[in-house]
Amino acid sequence: MPFSALGLIDHLRKALAEEGYKSPTPIQAEAIPAVLDGNDLLACAQTGTGKTAAFALPVLQLLHQSHLHGEKRKIRCLVLTPTRELAIQIAESFTAYGRHTGLTNTVIFGGVNQNPQTERLVRGVDILVATPGRLLDLIGQGHLHLRDIEYFVLDEADRMLDMGFIHDIKKVLKALPKKRQSLFFSATMPPEIVKLAAAILHNPKEIMVTPVSSTVEIINQQILFVDRENKNSLLAHLLQERKIESALVFTRTKHGADKVARFLAKNNITAEAIHGNKSQNARQRALGNFKTRQTRVLVATDIAARGIDIDELEYVINVDLPNIPETYVHRIGRTGRAGNRGAAYSFCNAEEQAYLRDIERLIAKKIPVIEDHPYPMVNLEMEQPKLAPAKKGNAGHQEPKPKQEQKPGKSRWKRK
Ligand code: AMP
Repeated sequence: MPFSALGLIDHLRKALAEEGYKSPTPIQAEAIPAVLDGNDLLACAQTGTGKTAAFALPVLQLLHQSHLHGEKRKIRCLVLTPTRELAIQIAESFTAYGRHTGLTNTVIFGGVNQNPQTERLVRGVDILVATPGRLLDLIGQGHLHLRDIEYFVLDEADRMLDMGFIHDIKKVLKALPKKRQSLFFSATMPPEIVKLAAAILHNPKEIMVTPVSSTVEIINQQILFVDRENKNSLLAHLLQERKIESALVFTRTKHGADKVARFLAKNNITAEAIHGNKSQNARQRALGNFKTRQTRVLVATDIAARGIDIDELEYVINVDLPNIPETYVHRIGRTGRAGNRGAAYSFCNAEEQAYLRDIERLIAKKIPVIEDHPYPMVNLEMEQPKLAPAKKGNAGHQEPKPKQEQKPGKSRWKRK
């Protein structure tokens, strides 16, 4: 189905052609006509499905069609999103898709000087993309108000709740006009999300796209069993041996991310780490260097990587397996976006086997094992791993208990 079948105007179709988009993704095919018709939307979709364009395109069209020339621009669309990275990427998408509409947008988020953000607001924008804390801050200081909002998008609602933003969301809702069109996006629909959606939406059109497990089917996934102390060496080996030009590497902890980045740098592989202890500017710089291929490897924790969108990311390497199986899906879903093929290598040590089992249960398949590598696991007499039970949902990560000293065995360890 071409984009023209969705009723999009030429200005937008031209931008989409320039972006190289040929046809809409399933969520776009469903959401765009529904929003253009004036409906509220309740969409269950995760990153990677094309959900940003699913809300940005119809909103741009509606704003464009009712734009009054000559008037000072008023903020008529608010997109609320949980993280700075996501906010920046959404604003970039609005800029790309809206480049022939004459509509303007800006983005506000915390952790950086507010002055450039408020100066941009003074000049007037049509679309505001914001994280909740900085938005409320600037409203409190009188730098903006939400009285002219006609379109409200709540993005990644489940993460918002996980990150403790519920009170902020409620405050934002109070500041919005009652008469508006609201679009609500969440990757999962637990009861508290359904309740929040009911409080925001009026008679919404409901859209569900591909459940978590099927979005990973096009990703070539492989497991490498390795002892913890050999993980870094195996990573360096993989990067060299398999001629991986660029990879996003995940670790469970900030400390782990720094250690991996340092190890790679020592082995002449350019690498930078991003995590919550780094300033926003440092994170943006590292992400920029990675996107322009100045750095080969970006090492990230799960929180820091939320919402990162890198076009044509081919490889994800999990140096540590996450204890929440859904996190694995989020991580590897960063390759294989919008139909591209991707590959994900995951390292698994003795203690992480329980995590692996939970992941395989969630994705409903056994992940093939690469046995032929220079750091095979040597441990035979393994203790039952003493792990925190793997959790459902996105609760905080837990560290496995420190490993007991293991005697290297002679025979190769094999998966049961
Ligand atoms: P999102 O789920 O919004 O984070 O989008 C995931 C990725 O898919 C982004 O890199 C988009 O640029 C890309 N994308 C979105 N829609 C399309 C489309 N119709 N055709 C090709 N790529 C797309």
